[in-house]
Parts: sequence; C-alpha cells; structure tokens
Amino acid sequence: MVVSKSTTLESINPATRAVLGRVPVSSEDDVRLAVERAWHAYEDWQLTSIKKRAKHIANLRKIIASRADEIAQLISEEVGKPLPESYFSELSGPLDTCLWLINSGEKLLADQAVTLTNPLLATKQSLITYEPLGVVGIISPWNYPFSIPMMTAIMALYAGNSVVIKPSEKSPLIGIKIGELFLEAGFPPGCVEIITGDRQTGEYLSKSRLGRLIFTGSVGGGQGIIAQSANSLTPVSLELGGKDAAIVLPDAPIEWTARGLTWGAFTNAGQACASVERVYIVKGKQTEELIKAIVSATQKLKVGPSSDPLSDMGPLIDQSQLDKVAAHVEDAVARGAKVLAGGRVREDLGGFFFEPTVLTDVTHDMKIMKEETFGPVLPIMVVDSEDQAVELANDSEFGLCATIWAGKLARAECVARDINVGTVLINDVLFSHAVPQLPWGGLKKSGFGRGHSVFGLHDLCNIKHISIDSASGAHRVWWYPYSKSRIKLAQGGIQLLHGGLGKRTSGLVDFVSNMFAKAEKKKQTEQSVAPEKKTDGEN
Ligand code: NAD
Repeated sequence: MVVSKSTTLESINPATRAVLGRVPVSSEDDVRLAVERAWHAYEDWQLTSIKKRAKHIANLRKIIASRADEIAQLISEEVGKPLPESYFSELSGPLDTCLWLINSGEKLLADQAVTLTNPLLATKQSLITYEPLGVVGIISPWNYPFSIPMMTAIMALYAGNSVVIKPSEKSPLIGIKIGELFLEAGFPPGCVEIITGDRQTGEYLSKSRLGRLIFTGSVGGGQGIIAQSANSLTPVSLELGGKDAAIVLPDAPIEWTARGLTWGAFTNAGQACASVERVYIVKGKQTEELIKAIVSATQKLKVGPSSDPLSDMGPLIDQSQLDKVAAHVEDAVARGAKVLAGGRVREDLGGFFFEPTVLTDVTHDMKIMKEETFGPVLPIMVVDSEDQAVELANDSEFGLCATIWAGKLARAECVARDINVGTVLINDVLFSHAVPQLPWGGLKKSGFGRGHSVFGLHDLCNIKHISIDSASGAHRVWWYPYSKSRIKLAQGGIQLLHGGLGKRTSGLVDFVSNMFAKAEKKKQTEQSVAPEKKTDGEN
C-alpha cells in the first residue's frame, strides 16, 4: 500500500474506546496507483489456469485456518463482537467459499453449449464462456469486516480478476490483515490491493476504471455510488440496508422461536443487515407464552466485551450508532410502545453498549418499525391474521430478508412466497449469508444484484457468447438481397414454426417454394417492372 503523506485515521475498540491503531487515509493518487497496480497484475493473473488459481485459493484456506484464532481475536477487538461470532459468522463463510470453489468452481466456470431451437440456425454452435472482467472494486462495511470483502474477493480472484478492497474506516486493521493473508497465500503482488480510508477514499475508487464495483453499505452510500459511477458507467452491485420482518404463525414451536428470534435480533448487537428488526406474531393461544419466552431469553443475555468469554452481546460500533438506537427506542416509547426488557444505554460498561431490548405495542408510525435501527431492539406487533402479517411485512422500503416461524412447513412456504424480499428463511435466521452456494441480495432500497452463489460468481465474469458456424458457404435467408419471394419465405417461415395447425402447411409450401427462388434475378425483374416515378402534383 502507498502510504499517504499526512492523513491518518484511528481504529477504535468499541468495547473500551481504546485506540487500537492508526492507518493512512489513501489519497486520490494512492487510489489511482493501487488501481493501476491491480490492472497490471491482472494482465498475468487472467492468463493463469483455473487449476493454478484453485491452488492459490487452497493455500489461502490453509492460512486462514491456521491463523483463525489471531484473525478472530482482531475482528472481536476492532468491531466488538463476541468471539464465537467471529468464528461462525466471519471465518466460516470465506473458508467455505474456498472449499466450494476448489471442489466445484471449474464446473461452474466451464464453457456451456447452448441448444438453439430455430431450424434456420441448425449449422450453428453457441458457447457461453466466463471470462474475467478486470479489476473488481470492493467497498465494504464494518459489521462483517472480514467475511463480506473476503467472500467476494475470493470469488473474483478465482474468476481471474484482480481486486481493490476499500475496507470500512471503522475496521481498517481487518482490511490490512486481509491483504496480508492473500500475500502470504502466494497471490502475486497487485492482485489484491487494500486502500484504507474514509468515504472519500471510497469515492475515488468508485470513479476509477473498474470492471465491476461491489458495494456493501448504507442506502445513502449506495445512492452515492450510483451517482459517482454514472460517468464511467461502471457496472455496480449494491448490497444495502434491511428492515427484516419475522412472521410467527400460531403453531410455531415456542422455545425454538423465542431462541431464534432473540439470536436473530441481538447477534452482532443487532448490527446485521439481515437482523430481525420487527416481529409480527399472528394471534393464537400461545401468543402470551411466546412473548414471555422472548423476554426471558433476552434477560438471560450477558452484555460485555469480547474479552469476557461469557459475553453474549458486545457493544455497538460507535457513539453515532448508540445515539441512533437510543433515539429509535425513545421515539417508540414516546408514541406508546412498552419496554418489556432492556431499553437503556449501559454507560457503566465503558464502551458503546446498549441493553438488548424488547418492545411491544409498537406501530408502523414509529421509526423502530420503519427505519433501519441496526441495533439490539426486538419490537413485537401482535396481528390478527396471516394476511395482515404479510401486508405489514411488505410495508417497507427495504426488501432484503424475512423469516417465518411455524409448525406446519407447507403453510410457512406459502407465506414465504408472498413476501417481497431476496431471501426467506423458515425456522432459522441469518445463517445463509455465510453459505457460499446460496444467493444473497435484495429488492427495493436493499439494493440490486445477487452476490455469492453461481449467480454472484457469474456476475464477476464477462459472460461471453461465441457462435461458430460450420456452414459458412451456405445460404442465409435473412441476408441480402431482399425481394418479394424473400418476404413470402419469411411469412411462410413464421407460420410454419409458430402458426396454428392449418397455417403450418401453407407456411411450409411458401417457405420451401421461395427458399430456392433466384432472389437476385427476381429482384432485377421486379425493379424493371417497378411503377414509373410519379410526376409533380400526383399523389
Ligand atoms: P456506509 O455506507 O456508511 O459505508 C460502507 C462503506 O462504503 C465504507 O467503506 C465507506 O467508507 C464507504 N462509503 C460510504 N459512502 C460512500 C460513497 N459515497 N462512495 C464510496 N464509498 C462510500 O455503511 P456502514 O455504516 O459501514 O454499514 C452499515 C450499512 O451496511 C447498514 O445499512 C447495513 O444494513 C448495510 N449492510 C448491508 C449488507 C448486505 O449484504 N445487504 C451487509 C452488511 C451491511
């Protein structure tokens, strides 16, 4: 990395507010040079065989696994999550991505033959090839600072691209660690460039020459990216915020649902794009019992720093996030919500801690049910019917994920089909982001494009069509010259292939009889009997 002359930014441990380190804020020149180095590295990297790339990925897997404790420790220190979360939700996804590509990547990027149905194209063979795009820019957030950039970078590199990663200004040390891991795994210099810095650094990257830009972050950030990349028309994918609904059907198993909802709302202190941000319980015999179970599970959670192995929930990332969560809870209470658990800032703990909070009597007039809170708050609304729950779940400007909790799975699947989001999980929550085979992405203000999975892999490629014709000397009925017989042939062909039963026979006759008409001769004859030019005044 080129070190900027003057500016630096601090990395802060959110559990203690202690400074963990300082990193450079990359300038416009730094970004330009990093992108140039990545294009230079790409020249050779794109030519390496897929087997060789898989070997590098296998090395990376070994290195991540052997240094797992050190990486997990750094993640927990820099963004505050308890250690089990650093292993399960940060390390496991990238490691599984390596394994998936090592085992299946060659097949997923192999040329594909396409079957053509039109008989006029019978001599053609069409192939789809997956070629790299060049330099892929990755701008990522702090909430999953390792898994988010890593999973995309691994896929992009495997497809033959080089990458430039701009980690969040709130987790730059993890960004630098990512660069070190790739170098240690033997990736050629320049294949993975890390540029630390703030939003401005990201803006420089978004305006650079890139094959594609994958942005994960806030809605405002995504809107900025669209504007900034408009000039270069860089293709972008946007993975933005969420306001994920959980729908609980009357037959949902109580203990399981209570445990699932609390984990879904409070893991990573609620700072996950796919956190449970609102719950709709369809009224039934066990509603009261379920709410009690949710409150009881919440009250058992231990809030504290990751240095305490018994901590279930860590701090929020910074003061602005803490203020936002407190403001959402205040707004809800002022409008009539009831606090059943938590509800307060934990100043006594030193960092940016907020208690895991359960609210009831909430409505869609409150910020807590409409805006992304991104904090440890579980607001519950009891509704009269499944239809009402679906209507409320869809009443959101976001469309990332949703969960359904139910006994009868077929019923839950029907409900799942009615929800306008990119992912619906039945009887579980959040796990699918870490599973490389599953697509990830949303609708509406949650962004567009699909990451991970075969769709995400192909999105990191130039999907190129190559058509090969084995009969280059043969007649092309759609080529010049045009004539009356050519029109008849076209009309016959349409009827032959797509007309009703009766029309097919006459279509066949028209098609075949005009197929071998001497088009050019006919054209000359037609031209010689063309109507005389109209004189002035004639109409
Ligand atoms: P953010 O938008 O503030 O920042 C994300 C990254 O983008 C940072 O690296 C930042 O420096 C950079 N950035 C911001 N504005 C930019 C611009 N105009 N041009 C270039 N770079 C810019 O978001 P954040 O606070 O870091 O992350 C939290 C948000 O991310 C939440 O809304 C959360 O829901 C969302 N998120 C979404 C997903 C998903 O997969 N859909 C995953 C994780 C987080």
